[in-house]
Amino acid sequence: MRDLTLDISPLLCGKTGDQTFSLEWTGIPEIFYGIKPVEPVSVSGTIRNRQKYFELNMTVEFEFTSECARCLKPIKKHAEYSCVKSIVTQAENNDGEYIVVDNNAVTLNEAAEELLFLELPSRLLCSEDCAGLCHICGKNLNEGPCPCRKETDPRWDGLKRFLDNNHIITEGGAENGSTKA
Ligand SMILES: [Zn+2]
Ligand SMILES: [Zn+2]
Repeated sequence: MRDLTLDISPLLCGKTGDQTFSLEWTGIPEIFYGIKPVEPVSVSGTIRNRQKYFELNMTVEFEFTSECARCLKPIKKHAEYSCVKSIVTQAENNDGEYIVVDNNAVTLNEAAEELLFLELPSRLLCSEDCAGLCHICGKNLNEGPCPCRKETDPRWDGLKRFLDNNHIITEGGAENGSTKA
């Protein structure tokens, strides 16, 4: 994994003004279930001297691929997330709130991972009104209705889901009249 490490010696030596940076992030850990960032991910921003600490403004920008939670269609999206963090030269009880300077440098991996973890959606849809897949025949209902759907009595949905989950074929189940009074 490539470290997002940045030498900030000029700021530590008292140089005023912002230090800007632009890094490429690769080898991103697969902690984001179902979401795959297209590498390299751009990590850029500024670090400003605030006298007692340094203020990091960081933006992580990338494309990612995933799939619709309802119809499984592949999705490609653009993401751009920003955060502000404090950089300190030493911290006694650091619980991840601060980034601590080490050898005149800071490593931004943890802050970047935290940002993605907080901001990336846990559930994506191809569109807000995605109709999803038929529980019975698996047809993508965005492409039109399927034959089993119009016979469906909502009272049987729970049973159908149970049968689907257990891979029990319910072919023609609604057509033999047993679900109609
Ligand atoms: Zn969908
Ligand atoms: Zn169907």
